[in-house]
Amino acid sequence: MSGSTVLKVVIDAPVMASFDYLPPEGRCPQPGQRVLVPFRNGKRIAVVVGLAAHSALPPGRLRRVLSVLDPEPLLDASLLALLDWAAGYYQHPPGEVCAAALPRLLRHGRDTGTGALVWRITPAGLAAREAGEPARAPAQARLLAALADAADGLDAAALAALAGRWQAGMRQLERRGWAGRQRIDPWAAAAGTQPEPAPTPTAAQAEAVAAITAAGGFAGFLLQGVTGSGKTEVYLRGIDVQLAAGRQSLVLVPEIGLTPQLLARFRRRFPAAGIVTLHSGLTDLQRLEAWQHARAGRAGIVIGTRSAVFAPLPRPGLIVVDEEHDGSFKQQEGFRYCARDIAVWRARQLDIPVVLGSATPSLESLANVEAGRYRRLQLPERTAGARHPSVHLVDLRRHVANDGLAQPLIAAIGRHLGNGGQVLLYLNRRGYAPTLMCPGCGQCVECRRCDARMVLHRHERRITCHHCGATRPAPERCGACGGELYAVGQGTERLEAALGELFPGQALVRVDRDTTRGRGEIERRLEEVASGRARILLGTQMLTKGHDFPGVTLVGIIDADQGLFGTDFRAGERLAQTFVQVAGRAGRADKPGEVYLQTLFPDHPLLQTLVREGYGRFAEAALAERRAAGWPPFSYLAMLRAEAPARGPALAFLAAARAAGEAHAMADIRLLGPAPAPMERRAGRFRAQLLVEADNRAQLQRFLTAWRADVAALPEAGRTRWSLDVDPVELF
Ligand code: ADP
Ligand code: ZN
Repeated sequence: MSGSTVLKVVIDAPVMASFDYLPPEGRCPQPGQRVLVPFRNGKRIAVVVGLAAHSALPPGRLRRVLSVLDPEPLLDASLLALLDWAAGYYQHPPGEVCAAALPRLLRHGRDTGTGALVWRITPAGLAAREAGEPARAPAQARLLAALADAADGLDAAALAALAGRWQAGMRQLERRGWAGRQRIDPWAAAAGTQPEPAPTPTAAQAEAVAAITAAGGFAGFLLQGVTGSGKTEVYLRGIDVQLAAGRQSLVLVPEIGLTPQLLARFRRRFPAAGIVTLHSGLTDLQRLEAWQHARAGRAGIVIGTRSAVFAPLPRPGLIVVDEEHDGSFKQQEGFRYCARDIAVWRARQLDIPVVLGSATPSLESLANVEAGRYRRLQLPERTAGARHPSVHLVDLRRHVANDGLAQPLIAAIGRHLGNGGQVLLYLNRRGYAPTLMCPGCGQCVECRRCDARMVLHRHERRITCHHCGATRPAPERCGACGGELYAVGQGTERLEAALGELFPGQALVRVDRDTTRGRGEIERRLEEVASGRARILLGTQMLTKGHDFPGVTLVGIIDADQGLFGTDFRAGERLAQTFVQVAGRAGRADKPGEVYLQTLFPDHPLLQTLVREGYGRFAEAALAERRAAGWPPFSYLAMLRAEAPARGPALAFLAAARAAGEAHAMADIRLLGPAPAPMERRAGRFRAQLLVEADNRAQLQRFLTAWRADVAALPEAGRTRWSLDVDPVELF
């Protein structure tokens, strides 16, 4: 009898549990449907995640759902199970986890029926407008004018931007026959297009595709191959097989990996597949539409960044994670999940293959290969006969660098430009100089709210903190002694200025966050390089991913030492990945490439192994080191972080948390800390951390579940802002 049914619902709120409600009279919603519920003194949208026969609450305290928002479940059983697992694994409130899986408009109560609907003006509407109608209804006249100007019609979001209450006016226009609605099919235009033919696969590609296709159920693959070795081609072929069988593929790419070029390549290859993208650049309505196409099974391919791992897939066939080592798969705030790890869990749950691709696999994935959990597929050679670049170490102890450039690199730049090549210079530091120093008293200009130096942005005549965003006009003189300040060290802005003086007349393009703020600015700048107009390309991390620069013959790494002495056990791995990714930009076509790497430590064993023996040997050595030191992937970590306006409360909270943890003492759990964070003060808040280390994942999970509840109940918890990060990637 329906009276005995209790609904378990989750609400987007920082609460670890689900809530119990009674179904509305007459009708019981199913798991996956949204409902409107009374919550505290207001109403909230909730998602039903389960039904139960009883509640722990006394019957008198159970409140009734106000209304059911969806005619059928939005989230299917497998997605609900995935979210439930993720909430447990990452120790995060289930309502917030569920919110991460839903487009914003659905979280805010929007109905699902209006997907790709647009309103257009009719011929009668055009005639009416000519005749000056509707004369006495200005709101309708405004809507009609807007429709007359919009060749493709206007969707609900665009209309809402015009007028808050557009629906009433539109109903009148429709009633008079002046406007009509139309459902647009985003793929209608492409359906008639001929697909671009696939190249004949190399033997290694054919073998990889065959292995993936033959999997027949869950299987994890690590597709390893240098940039340009044809990994994307393997994905495309794997996806092709799925499309032919009527199944969907999910492709996850790093944040800046979803380039127009990549998307265009997928579209040319599969013009009729129905390709949707999910990423942060979409409007809410675009995101909702893409999500709906995925959920309805109309989209054969879903390509997206991190959060797309939660895309609904009624007919799943294959999951691909491209550049699986990339840091952007890990969310660093709020719900701190790793999309790559969830992708693997989801593939296992759906019993489909998952392909992790990279030229520089994470040590975690390599360890999974070693342990027999993933199968390695290797693409050894570059296609089209491209050769590997030769690498030169520039010893900065012997060669003085002016504005970041030492003589051997300057000479190489001149040589390559003279031969018609393009040059790429990598420096992962934006601004003009990272430090403003007074030579008189030795003081540096620091941020007032962070333990960090202010970075000089000379063009804007400002100094800015890259941690909290604080900015002020650049001072000329030392605040302490009045001496003249000097800019020490270099960022991309200074490098650009120096190159302009050294190579006058050579067109330069700089790509970093400061030069690419405008919409389409990255694409415009990269196009300058692709077309060959720009001869020198310099920039930050933004250059290392996904882009193809066939004309680049020389890559210069201005400062290899940034990664050698990081505070974190992953610093070396990151440096090696960046190095290989940047170096991979050189000599992609038939021109041999060269890489110059400037360092103060040319004998550093990490650099030596990397340069002489390649990433594979480096990774083996690094894994052996991790095993010896007991770091992941040979142990499992969680980080409890706290911050407060003063040091005391943050550390006191963590000390209490530690004491609470010791009460749950388990043999395989170690608590390290608390300690101040490496950069203790940020944006005026003091930060500290406590590390939990375990020998096995299940133990860690058991410990965290018990411990987190105790931590949340500590009196000190109310005086700090705290968070728990499972599998942290940044140890600060
Ligand atoms: P990756 O994803 O490893 O960087 P891609 O799949 O993008 O490599 O391949 C690099 C280039 O080589 C692309 O221009 C692609 O079209 C081309 N290519 C890939 N496989 C083949 C093949 N079997 N025959 C000819 N060209 C290929
Ligand atoms: Zn700051």
